[in-house]
Amino acid sequence: MDIIHLLPDSVANQIAAGEVIQRPASCLKELVENSLDAGATRVQVIVRDAGRTLLQVIDDGTGMSEMDARLAFERHATSKIREAQDLFSLRTMGFRGEALASICAVAQVEMTTRRAEDETGTLIEIHGSDVVRQEPCVCPVGTNIKVSNLFFNVPVRRKFLKTDQTELRNLLTEFYHIVLVYPRVSFTFVHNDEILMELPSGTEKQRIEAVFGNPKRNVYTSSFVDINTETELVSIRGFVVKPESATRKAEQFFFVNGRYMRHPYFLKAVQTAYSGMLAADYQPSFFIYFDIAPEAIDVNIHPTKTEIKFADEQTIFQILLASVREALGKFTLAPQIDFDTSGRIDIPQPTDSHVSAPRVTVDPTYNPFHSRGTVYPDKAPTNWESLYEGLSAAKPLSDAPAAVHDELLRPEEVECCPLWQYGGRYILAPSAQGLVLINQHRAHMAVLYAQFIEQLEHTQGAMQQLLFPEVLTLPQDEMILLAQILPDLRAIGFDMEQLSPDSYSVLGVPSQTASHSPLPVLQHILHQVRERSADTRREWREQIALALAEQSAIPYGKQLTEAEMRDMLMKLVALPSYRRTADGKVIVSLLTDEEINKRF
Ligand code: ADP
Ligand code: MG
Repeated sequence: MDIIHLLPDSVANQIAAGEVIQRPASCLKELVENSLDAGATRVQVIVRDAGRTLLQVIDDGTGMSEMDARLAFERHATSKIREAQDLFSLRTMGFRGEALASICAVAQVEMTTRRAEDETGTLIEIHGSDVVRQEPCVCPVGTNIKVSNLFFNVPVRRKFLKTDQTELRNLLTEFYHIVLVYPRVSFTFVHNDEILMELPSGTEKQRIEAVFGNPKRNVYTSSFVDINTETELVSIRGFVVKPESATRKAEQFFFVNGRYMRHPYFLKAVQTAYSGMLAADYQPSFFIYFDIAPEAIDVNIHPTKTEIKFADEQTIFQILLASVREALGKFTLAPQIDFDTSGRIDIPQPTDSHVSAPRVTVDPTYNPFHSRGTVYPDKAPTNWESLYEGLSAAKPLSDAPAAVHDELLRPEEVECCPLWQYGGRYILAPSAQGLVLINQHRAHMAVLYAQFIEQLEHTQGAMQQLLFPEVLTLPQDEMILLAQILPDLRAIGFDMEQLSPDSYSVLGVPSQTASHSPLPVLQHILHQVRERSADTRREWREQIALALAEQSAIPYGKQLTEAEMRDMLMKLVALPSYRRTADGKVIVSLLTDEEINKRF
């Protein structure tokens, strides 16, 4: 008996669908891209329950004929390429002709569509690849496609979806990637009958402002510098922020030929252009649009993949680096100064011959850190001792888990040995095994981290009321994120009340951070939770504790008395493990007697 048979289309489609449509966000992306490929000038997105029950996209594009309306849902049905050769001159977003086939395999789809030249439109309804209805209908020119009950027939997929908040955030992220490249097209995004985004047609800058603008995201378009470079290989346009407008939480976007992409290597080029101008952990926001001959990039990209391969990445790296440097050089007199060897000035020359060197005037006294009060050590809290408040309530050493497995420094040693501070950064402590070097900021971070985690899990953090409540305004996706972590923020000592659909008033803060301005602290927490995609409660608690500890720990450059050092070290060595911070950075390092003796 023969045992091989062809799978029914509906099954094959369902299997293939898993690749293209992984979650509501991928479905939304495909639908909106189709609308743009159809030349729409206005696109409305209507979502219910983060796309689980409804994802609807309405456009005023070309619409489809009766025949095309039916064909559109067949696998490999596309109007965008005819032969393999066309792949190399691709300018549309879609081309694989799989999106609609995949979507209708795993959802209930109803579409109405009409071309301008037709009097009547077509209504078609498909449930799990089965056409259940097709008939003429009255409808406006364009396409209106409604995807209901996504994954209704694939329970595994449904179970795989994250919380509504997370899925909605994914939808918005996907939406941002698209709307930033189509500023002329107007968009709306409605979720559960609430308008989350209303984006009128405009310039690129206006679109960026509308999506990320101040005060929502701290992307100030007024602090943008234009970049603009044309070479034979590539054209690079866009905006980068002035160094003094860099933030801890930046919006960084690359697009190539009208498509969002991630590109860690090119990111490095941008960061290199800023090197020496930013404080540690500050990032520049940028929106950079590449245009390149389609044959110079790998087009056979997977629809869900955002990393794109370029033929000549090293040259483009150089062009991008020079382009950003030139833009930054135009408005600031900031040369590349190596601040550690004060005064030594090093202006890198592009190595690539067809890249012109940016002209840079040198001001050796320029120090970007002076104008920005956000950087250590300028803003060392004056009442830093208050950071220790509440610490005395921490577990007494005696019943703390003994640090037996971490014998670098024993409590008895810390209690009586002399301690020195070195270079405003390190604490030196002699121990039985040699000289122990302790990073003061990280040591304090570890102590605070343990304390914050303890508060999150068991107790309530001490709160200090603010004299003047502050208002935290956030974009939609971050409001969602904040709502998610709010109970934990409250547990740790933040007193916050929602003011409006996009803002909270901050009335109190954890006493350990009382000397810091609360908004950057909260934004840093949100940023960390988002960046590290903390999705479970435990993960985001860790991120909250880490971000708070990082913000509140004593800074480098802060002079410590011996008593202060001892107090902190006693708490450090009482921790079950103290060699590294929760994010893996080294806290203590040992210079052994042997190493020391070898030097003489
Ligand atoms: P692809 O976009 O890769 O061609 P899709 O499955 O997404 O494949 O769409 C199949 C075809 O259906 C498209 O090539 C296009 O001709 C047609 N189509 C889909 N959505 C729209 C729309 N919103 N307006 C007009 N035509 C559309
Ligand atoms: Mg498509």
